[in-house]
Amino acid sequence: MSASVFFPLDKQQVVGVIGGGQLGRMLALAARRMGVRSVIWTGGLEAPAVEVADEVIDLPFDSAEAMEQFCKIATVATVEFENIPLETLQGVKKKIGLYPSPHAIGICQNREREKNFLRENNIPCTNFWVIETEADLEAAMNELNGPGVLKTAAFGYDGKGQLKIEGCENPAEVWEKFEKQRAVLEAWVPFEKEISVMVVRDSSGAMKTYDPAENRHRNHILDVSIVPATVSGETSEAARTIAKQVAEALDYQGIIGVEFFVNHDGSLVVNEMAPRPHNSGHHTLDACATSQFEQQLRVALGLPLGSTRLNSPCVMLNLLGDFWKSETEPPDWTDLLSTEGAVLHLYGKRRAKGMRKMGHTTIVGEGAIEKAESLKRNWL
Ligand code: AMP
Repeated sequence: MSASVFFPLDKQQVVGVIGGGQLGRMLALAARRMGVRSVIWTGGLEAPAVEVADEVIDLPFDSAEAMEQFCKIATVATVEFENIPLETLQGVKKKIGLYPSPHAIGICQNREREKNFLRENNIPCTNFWVIETEADLEAAMNELNGPGVLKTAAFGYDGKGQLKIEGCENPAEVWEKFEKQRAVLEAWVPFEKEISVMVVRDSSGAMKTYDPAENRHRNHILDVSIVPATVSGETSEAARTIAKQVAEALDYQGIIGVEFFVNHDGSLVVNEMAPRPHNSGHHTLDACATSQFEQQLRVALGLPLGSTRLNSPCVMLNLLGDFWKSETEPPDWTDLLSTEGAVLHLYGKRRAKGMRKMGHTTIVGEGAIEKAESLKRNWL
């Protein structure tokens, strides 16, 4: 499948985006605003980015034909999600350049590699054990001697592939329940809050951070991000510093989200990293000088980094599928559209389901939290 738009390739920058979800859609829209064309490689999955892209390659991520087409059309590439085969990423990098690098994505796409990276670089993270066998699990549970979370080493996100344990269970039964998948056992962190910092770093090593966002979840899915996070100035600065340390140690090029747990004493622990634009950075479209999507494109295109200034405090509310009246009938938007400071973003997904991310709204200005809560109450 291919969109019908034809464009001359000479001297025209064409950004190739691997992945066609809402992040790809917002990248393609940012590209269009900058006069840059885009080609989306969907991986053969349902792809909200398709309708705003100039060209589409609707083939799986391991297709040699897709790689060839993609690298012929695109002049440079980026990703909008991390679970892409490493060989594909390496192939694209070799042909046209990929931002961020396969090395950085490879670390962030696998919890075991991610945790080892954090530990090796002395970046504060949860205590963890790598689990390959039932015996490993038994030893780790004995050492942990308390609550924890078992997480699959590969392909986990939004709480998927996770099992909370109290510590008193029978390891054999836990291992059976977890289907004996290679895993990481993490100590449970009795955190006070969750925050994240978006950092952008260019090829020369220049870096900028956005104000930390405070993230609240519903059923393991991001519900609202409050920016700036309600933490002390010290904690906020420490989060920015650690986030930069992560980007530096990865020799990162592009935008990366670093997620933290904030302990009750204000100290920080890195939970995980997202090597791409992140849901907690969506507010940057409406409340910051430069959006996270534009920053990603700037790095890929070798342009200077943009300002990360927050123009106004704000709240980003995810519009999840459970707000919809039925699979195909959205909620009544009247209240949202009449709310001072609210901007509606919909991703063009045809069907709403459970906690599916259908869109988001950013509400800027004072009282944004109350406004977001009131909108939610009407829809749920
Ligand atoms: P993750 O997919 O690793 O981001 O985990 C999803 C959510 O589960 C996090 O945002 C936390 O709310 C919770 N969680 C994950 N790991 C831990 C942990 N070690 N201690 C406490 N809560 C956790």
